Parts: sequence; structure tokens; C-alpha cells
Amino acid sequence: MGKRKKASLFLATGSVLLVLILLGWFLFIIFEGEKPEITLRPLPDFLSENQEFGLTVSDMKRGLRVLEVSVKQEGRKIRVLEKTFPFKGLLNCEGVNSYNTRFSIDPHKLNLAQGRIDLEVSVRDYSRRSGGDGNLSLVEHKIIVDTIPPAIRALSRMHYVNLGGTGLVVYQTSSDTIESGLFVNDLFFPGFLTGGESQGEFNVCYFAIPHDIKAQPEIYLWAKDKAGNVSKASFYYHIRRKQFRTEEINITDRFLGHILPYFSFYAFQPESSDLEKFLKINQELRQENNLVFYNLKTKTGPKRLWKGSWIRLKNAATMAGFGDRRFYYYKGQKIDEQVHLGVDLASLANSEVQASNNGRVVFRDRLGIYGLTVVLDHGQGIASVYSHLSEIRVAMGQEVMKGEVIGLTGQTGLAGGDHLHFGIMVNGVFVNPIEWWDSHWIHDNIDRKLEILDRE
Ligand SMILES: [Zn+2]
Repeated sequence: MGKRKKASLFLATGSVLLVLILLGWFLFIIFEGEKPEITLRPLPDFLSENQEFGLTVSDMKRGLRVLEVSVKQEGRKIRVLEKTFPFKGLLNCEGVNSYNTRFSIDPHKLNLAQGRIDLEVSVRDYSRRSGGDGNLSLVEHKIIVDTIPPAIRALSRMHYVNLGGTGLVVYQTSSDTIESGLFVNDLFFPGFLTGGESQGEFNVCYFAIPHDIKAQPEIYLWAKDKAGNVSKASFYYHIRRKQFRTEEINITDRFLGHILPYFSFYAFQPESSDLEKFLKINQELRQENNLVFYNLKTKTGPKRLWKGSWIRLKNAATMAGFGDRRFYYYKGQKIDEQVHLGVDLASLANSEVQASNNGRVVFRDRLGIYGLTVVLDHGQGIASVYSHLSEIRVAMGQEVMKGEVIGLTGQTGLAGGDHLHFGIMVNGVFVNPIEWWDSHWIHDNIDRKLEILDRE
């Protein structure tokens, strides 16, 4: 064999090899096995109303061929979305690689039945795989259609509530309810289950009519189920208007000199006058402290801990009432205005303070204008507050019985003399304690309503 012949044979073999490699590469490309990607959001467990979904599909190799979204329910298939992407350019190099869209599923419009549906998204690409159909990606998501709102109705009847007072509603909800309670305008008071029954659940809800509410508030029962369906129900109530007392308080330099040292911890602007310091305490610090009280509502337990009548500080005179409008004067000028959210009771200095009812300690600390303070939770949103103490005798989380000594009266905080500031809260809202000390009020407004539960 000559040299030239050898070389041409070599060249021919080389070309065949090259063609084979190119062919292999070509086949590898058009028969690629990478599946399209699907991102579907959100992925809800329940569907109660029209729901919008966001969908992103992509295929970075051969490109998108066809997208289909459907809903399947008991053998029925409803096509929600279908899109075919054109094949463009050599090997679809100008085709669509990524596609973003939104679609919605309305259980009413699609006439879906209550119960399970399967939401299915399928995408194919322009690969020659699967007999030319392309690579297939599939996302299936199970959803429960529930468009029926929970049932809720009041069982208790007469609800006469004082402005600044407490009310109780006993009501029934259907068993699909996961949260319920009562709204007074936009203030929510949670209800508490009293025990399950086959035809529904029985709940109690204590609520407050805030002392400063304007005109006639909108009050209604409210329930929500797992799917997010919400029900509202009205019930009979009547709010008794009440005129609160007004009180004029004279702030003297002697008083300021007496109380300001206690507040030396508080950050005042440098060079504040004593009066400016007092106003900061009476306004900003008071607000901060009241927020601490309000947030204690989350510590309440679901079971009622209290029993019978409530104890008032022994042999004590009432020095100030709930809801008193206090006008503060300094050298004849009106300087401030605040509302008193408890009852001030004065007895001998350092008198023993008893737990007004069975409860659990959810706060025991120094609290700004309220001084040394104990808060007891009595369950189902009810709490009692004891302030200006000279000594605390209970531990955090401790369970206390009615009558147990929890501390001693004093004049810590913003107090002119030794006394107990006593308060009652309903889900963090201060109410008039006088009702709770009144056994007739308890009988008519609480015991008689709870009797319904024994009859049901
Ligand atoms: Zn007070």
C-alpha cells in the first residue's frame, strides 16, 4: 500500500467517525431526558372561595411543548388551562424555555362538590423521547373543597351589659369550627369550649364593653372553620349607658417631691422640670404599663378556675372608682386628663391582700405607675390585678386559692398613700370590678346563663 492510499483511508475513516460523533451528539440533544420544571403556589389544603394560583413552568433544553392544568373530582375532569408552545427555529432554539401564568379555581363557577379534588399540572417538552411525545412533568395536589360556613347561634338570651361592664354569652357552634368568639366593633373576645356534644359544641364567651366606647357598638358572634369559612350571628343585647364620676386632682410641688424619686429609673429628657417629668409618667409610662396588662390576655387558660363570689380587700374604704375621669390641676391650671381603670381601696398600711378568687399568677413584678403588681388569671379571659403593693408573696405560675395572701398593700408607683389598686380584666380590657363583687350580678349574668348548659 502506498503512502497516499493509506492517508486517504485514514481520512475516510476519520470522516465516518466524525459523522457518527455528530449524529450521536444530535440524537443526544433531541432525545434529551431532562424533565420540565413546575412551580405551583400556593398549595392550600382547603378551598372555600375563588383561589388564585401562580404557575411557573420551564424547560431549559428542548423547550416547552404543551401545558395543561385540570381539576379532577370523582371521575370528572375539568380543564382549567391549556397552552401549546410553537416549535420555532432549528431544533426549537427559538422556542419558549420559561412561562409564567396565573389561573384561578372558583368552586362555585366550576360547580365543584364538597370534598376532595385533585389539581393537576402537566407539562411536556420538545424532546423526541417517549415516542416523540417529550418528557412529561406532573404535579398533583389534593385539596378539600369546603364552602359551607360553620354554624353558630346564641343559647343565652338576655344580655344587659353596663358601659364599662362585663357580659357573658353561651353559644353553640358546629363541630367543624376551629375558632370562635365575639366582636365588639373590632375588639375580639375569644370563646372557650365547655365540652363536646354530638350535634355541636358548647362555648362560653366573656366580653367587655369598654368604658370609652362611642355610641352603639356593633356586637356579634363569630366562627371560623378549617377552610377559612366565616360565620357571623347576632344576638339580643342591650347596653346600659353610665355616667362616670369626675375627680379633680391637685398636683402640688410637695406631691411631686414625694413621688418622683421612685421614678428615677425612667429616662427623662435632661433638664425636665418636675412637672414635665410627672406628665411623662402620667401619660407615656401609664400607656406602656396598660399595654403590659393588655398583653397578659394571651396567658389565660381555657378552663374556668374561679368559683362563687369575689373577695374585696377587708375593712377597706373605696377611695376611687372604676372609670373615674380624673382632671389634673397644677397651680390652678388643668394639665392632664386620665381615666382610672380600677378601684382604689384603703385600709391599714401594709394590710394583707387576699386572692379575690382561685387563680394562677401570670405577672408579679414592678410595673411603672402601678408599682409592685400581681396579676392572677382566672381562666377564660378573666384576670384580677393588685397594684401599689409593698410586698409580693407569690411566685410566677403559682396556683392560688381564694383568700390566700398574695402580698401586702403599700404605696409603690404613682400612689399618694398606702392603698390597693384593684382591677378586673376581660381578655385584657379593664372592666368595673363592682359587678364581680356583687353576688346578685354574678347570679343573674353568669350563673343563670351557664345553667343553660346543664339543660342542653
Ligand atoms: Zn388606683
